[in-house]
Amino acid sequence: MAMSALPDLEHLRPAGTKRSGKRDQIVNTFLRQEGHLSADDLVDIIKREDQRISRATVYRTLQWMVTAGIARKVDFGEGRFRFEHSYRHPRHYHLICKTCNRSFEFLSSDIESLVEEVAAARNFMARQSVVQIYGTCEACQTGRTAQPDNGNSELLFARDALRIAIATERSGREFYTRAARLVKNSRGRHVFEKLAAEEVDHLERLEGRYRMLLERDPQLESRPTFLFFKGAANGLFAEGTEQLSKPGVDEAEALRIGIRCERGSHRFFKRYGEKFEDSEGKQVFLEFAEEEREHLELLIREYRALITRTHGGRKTARATAAAARTRPKPARKLRPAT
Ligand SMILES: [Zn+2]
Ligand SMILES: [Zn+2]
Repeated sequence: MAMSALPDLEHLRPAGTKRSGKRDQIVNTFLRQEGHLSADDLVDIIKREDQRISRATVYRTLQWMVTAGIARKVDFGEGRFRFEHSYRHPRHYHLICKTCNRSFEFLSSDIESLVEEVAAARNFMARQSVVQIYGTCEACQTGRTAQPDNGNSELLFARDALRIAIATERSGREFYTRAARLVKNSRGRHVFEKLAAEEVDHLERLEGRYRMLLERDPQLESRPTFLFFKGAANGLFAEGTEQLSKPGVDEAEALRIGIRCERGSHRFFKRYGEKFEDSEGKQVFLEFAEEEREHLELLIREYRALITRTHGGRKTARATAAAARTRPKPARKLRPAT
């Protein structure tokens, strides 16, 4: 499998530590492994490469990697620790099969927000949360051949980030197409048509990127879901599209719904993008957040112009201030000048 470039070990080495060829070799080998290795698993792999490296050196290096933040120590309740590398490896939770001892990685935005909510309510500075679900995997329950394993979690993360972005673009396209049909005047219709066309454009780009990703791992499509985003799975505009079909929705209301959807989408992707370790999935999220911000700004400009046209300049300030109040936490940049 294609491997990402390895980190600069020189840079990671703590100050005052001397260069060690053996250690670099162990670190590089460890970073090439996927999954969760016990110290003895790593010793076996290293010994196959180089008989001269001792068990004690491997153990010491593992400990050093944990301290340096290159490795994470995980406890699956087996009476020994396992290690996984954290380089371009998004944080995650584990499903652990007690029959075959395999573990499966996943991440859920809903679990994360719940943890944040509880920690905030208790004024607790959360640093790390561990979720481990023990049980029996599908293959062990059914006796059917095992599903493909997790594979490279960086690729899985990028795959799922792209799937969520694609679902969001699709729901956005649907939303703007409907809004364009709803709006009677040509200027308003043109704005929504333009946005629908942009979503089509973005969609094509994202789908192209998705296809390129699949080329890096032929089994990527069939590997199990890694990122669970309950609220975002059907696209962040799905709810807005529903609101559009309510009776009495006019251009101003359609713009307000659009603003809410784009803001929600922008914040969702930005918040997640910023939280992740450097990786392709992170890039997807941050780039997408930026595109959503542009749409958001366009909609806000249109909304203000519409208010000016319908009520005249005098009431504009009050109307935009009212629109601003519907936003929970507007970005400073987007706050209307009143
Ligand atoms: Zn199993
Ligand atoms: Zn893991």
